[in-house]
Amino acid sequence: MTPIYDRVALIGLGLIASSMALAMKRQGLAGEIVGTARSAATRQIAVEIGLCDRITETAADAVKGADLVVLCVPVGAMGQVAAEIGPHLARGATVTDVGSVKRAVIEAVQPHLPDYVEFIPAHPLAGTEHSGPRSGFAELFDNRWCLLVPQPDSDPEAVLRLRQFWEGLGANVDEMDADHHDLVLAVTSHAPHLIAYTMVGVADDLRRVTDSEVIKYSAAGFRDFTRIAASDPTMWRDVFLNNKDATLEILGRFTEELFALQRAIRTGDGDHLHAYFTRTRAIRRGIISAGQDTDAPDFGRSGRKV
Ligand code: NAP
Repeated sequence: MTPIYDRVALIGLGLIASSMALAMKRQGLAGEIVGTARSAATRQIAVEIGLCDRITETAADAVKGADLVVLCVPVGAMGQVAAEIGPHLARGATVTDVGSVKRAVIEAVQPHLPDYVEFIPAHPLAGTEHSGPRSGFAELFDNRWCLLVPQPDSDPEAVLRLRQFWEGLGANVDEMDADHHDLVLAVTSHAPHLIAYTMVGVADDLRRVTDSEVIKYSAAGFRDFTRIAASDPTMWRDVFLNNKDATLEILGRFTEELFALQRAIRTGDGDHLHAYFTRTRAIRRGIISAGQDTDAPDFGRSGRKV
């Protein structure tokens, strides 16, 4: 395949960047992949595993001559990285990011970019609970969504090229406004993560009482919460600090629903519980028929005991 970009610079070399590098190589989407990370240790691992064609010590060096620059650092670090690379960006380059929050990233990054580059924020809706340059895999984005958030003055050709790039990485691409993105993600990802963190925290307290039975007998349900709650603490701290309003709105609604269910249990209102669980089951079926998860029992963990 003809490369879509001549030189792609990946700033930050964690799960998302390493998966992008591997998926780019799979499809030949970049003439050259240049990478950089904050720590010498991460850069060293990237060299050892041959993740990129070239690793630079600084972000400023990585972006020189790149026609696509992808910011793959935690949301709270985006502004500082943009300030570092701003003066070194090539004329006509596209700058994008993969951050899980969009409005705050736009506000942090935009002021540092010269007006001769295109800034097109993005968010691939794909991930795992693992971090770092060794955690990536080429298939991460296959059949997952990537949301592009073009700016009012974005060049349609630059947006189309970035869309083709993400499609080449295996993703389905949609465009969305930043505030809507942040609300949708608060429902589908951010609030669920907070609930998982809370549930695992509660069970951890209980574990001290029950002498580790919670871990020993952890069945589907709790175990799935623990997987989500093992996600990177820095990334998730930054998500909540930067998507405050939407997350608080969804958590407010969540609390109301929880109280309603609590009341139904106390008053023995089986009809309420049954109707509620019937409605939620239909949502799960919708996700499966949209191809976003497997309907295999136990999420497809074949051969493993629950
Ligand atoms: P990761 O595996 O933890 O890697 C993060 C990278 O950012 C590392 O290379 C790290 O450098 C660097 N970094 C951390 N703090 C930094 C700072 N203050 N300044 C400069 N560099 C810094 O993270 P990831 O999972 O790939 O996530 C990257 C981005 O993708 C985040 O914005 C996240 O919101 C978004 N995202 C994540 C997921 C997911 O499920 N993981 C899904 C979609 C989008 P060192 O290794 O040198 O410390």
